[in-house]
Amino acid sequence: MLKTILFATDFSESSDHAFQYALSLARKFESRLAIIHVISEPVDLRGFYVPHISFDKLEEEIEQGALKMMEKFCLTHAHDYPRLESCVVPGIPYDEIIKKAEEISADLIVVGTHGRTGLDHVLFGSTAEKVVRKSTIPVMSIRIRE
Ligand code: AMP
Repeated sequence: MLKTILFATDFSESSDHAFQYALSLARKFESRLAIIHVISEPVDLRGFYVPHISFDKLEEEIEQGALKMMEKFCLTHAHDYPRLESCVVPGIPYDEIIKKAEEISADLIVVGTHGRTGLDHVLFGSTAEKVVRKSTIPVMSIRIRE
């Protein structure tokens, strides 16, 4: 039984592809399907190059933009799935993905093998690799066909 599935998206083509697997498993097991997007924390240069206030405003705009992208993602890909929920959090992607999975007691984490960075590591992108290596919850990583 997969009661709860966590899917992590960076809104890339690779993660869109992986989502199809997360969704079909969720449909099969009638799982709670949580989607997470992590806003990568930039190096903290507040008050060094620019005043605090500009950074706060920028962060607010980034968060609003990310929330809009998440809303569009859910509407486009899974508007008819009743047990869908989503969250957008700032932080280090692999860390936040694992934390969230533990918090919601996920039975499975689904990620793409590659993301927006397009970095082709030996096998995995860096976030996928770190999630696989550090998570105690099973991880399913989906590679897009080239
Ligand atoms: P990457 O390691 O960046 O090539 O991305 C591999 C996969 O990790 C993506 O297909 C997503 O499933 C997930 N991922 C990468 N970055 C993020 C992020 N910022 N938030 C949530 N998931 C992410």
